[in-house]
Amino acid sequence: MLEIRNATKTFGGLAAVDRVSFSIQQGEVAGLLGPNGSGKTTLLNLVSGALPPSGGRILIAGRDMTGKRADLIARAGVARTFQLVRILPSLTPEENVMVSAVFGAVPHWGEKAREIARAALARVGLDGHHARAAGDLTYLDQKRLELARALAAEPKLLLLDEWLAGLNPTELKEGIALIRSFSETGITILMVEHIMEAVRALCPRCLVMNSGALIADGPTGEVLADPHVIAAYLGE
Ligand code: ADP
Repeated sequence: MLEIRNATKTFGGLAAVDRVSFSIQQGEVAGLLGPNGSGKTTLLNLVSGALPPSGGRILIAGRDMTGKRADLIARAGVARTFQLVRILPSLTPEENVMVSAVFGAVPHWGEKAREIARAALARVGLDGHHARAAGDLTYLDQKRLELARALAAEPKLLLLDEWLAGLNPTELKEGIALIRSFSETGITILMVEHIMEAVRALCPRCLVMNSGALIADGPTGEVLADPHVIAAYLGE
């Protein structure tokens, strides 16, 4: 589903992503970990086309999408959520999701877009909120709305950037169950996540970055016990 070969992104003299290579099979749920500033968000930006790589190649479902525009990468089946919720607060939740249906893998308009939006809202448990302004939703519901927007694009690969951050313990359990319900439908997920409880619950596999480089990739239990990974987190 995703193959990254020697991806590099430099900002001035700094290699925020430094010759990173890995691939993710269809249906996998992989965690992307690493201390702050290690390059995780930049890597997601390379995959989603928000930033062009300085070097290396990015293949999505076998197609070379290196340097392609974000809208073309969305059409190739990649959707993402952002660390800070990016909804359109004055529109209704349904209108927010309809916007994604229009820009998704298969563009849908009018009543079809509305139908897809309603289905996506139902999948995230937000189907009771048709008429309200999105900005009035609770924090968890805004996060659900972001997920619904990503799902309405009918992605094959879903990129989550700390989607669970900031939730209270009860909401966290709900959030984990929600992500699990998507993974059970066969969607491929790459998720940046700091909450280890969530990583252990959702991700059979973990990748760890440090200073732009990929320092570990394997089964989550082994990766989290790896002394190099522990040292990276302790800042050694
Ligand atoms: P993470 O998501 O792991 O916290 P980031 O990918 O946000 O890490 O950042 C990796 C490094 O790249 C950091 O040193 C950060 O300051 C730098 N960086 C990220 N985006 C930019 C940018 N647009 N311009 C310059 N430096 C950036």
